[in-house]
Amino acid sequence: MTAAPSSRRRILVIEDEPDIARGLRDALEFEQFEAATTGFGREGIKLLRERGADLVILDLMLPDMNGFAVCEEIRSTHPVVPIIMLTARSQETDKIRGLEVGADDYVTKPFSIGELVARINAIFRRLFRTNQDDVVQVGAATIHLNKHELVRNKKTVALSFYEVELVRLLHERAGQPVTREEILDKIWGVTGHGSSRSVDNFVVKLRKKIEENAAKPRHIVTIYGTGYKLVL
Ligand code: CA
Repeated sequence: MTAAPSSRRRILVIEDEPDIARGLRDALEFEQFEAATTGFGREGIKLLRERGADLVILDLMLPDMNGFAVCEEIRSTHPVVPIIMLTARSQETDKIRGLEVGADDYVTKPFSIGELVARINAIFRRLFRTNQDDVVQVGAATIHLNKHELVRNKKTVALSFYEVELVRLLHERAGQPVTREEILDKIWGVTGHGSSRSVDNFVVKLRKKIEENAAKPRHIVTIYGTGYKLVL
């Protein structure tokens, strides 16, 4: 990951509505972030490749490309960078699809810029924390939390920001059930943007990486009607 010095973390805003883009840029610069903005998906992908970013804010409806496609392309080259998707729609299917193509979080318009900035700060506090226990073992998978990597059967796969957060939470409570509500509260915050489906979606993705057979999970076990339990 390309991490700028903590005082000048770099945020890429891909948003074609000028008022929102300008409002975001002003608020982010006020917070001492370095903000780059573009109204086009293709240009955003190019900017990220050429100059890097510590976090991406991505609008779903762009004039040249669908935000889902932009997200997928970003994920293919930047598996870890946190992506927050902005959507004008509130349909659950869009949110689920966004998470499926690799977005970490979504915000439904209209949104409070102050709340979004608070969420970005919370993500950075967790993303760039150090001196935490770095490596956890789950079954045959060795998970390097700070490197956002998982090694299983000599294959290394990248973990996204929220996938690592989910592993951390389940691992802290290994052997005990953790409810969906608690996962939502601890990982997505109390702002209420996540849903139970978001949690399930992340579990599905994590199982594919951790489990020998994701269809018959032995490590991230469903506790029916409650949530999940990690079995080491
Ligand atoms: Ca738009």
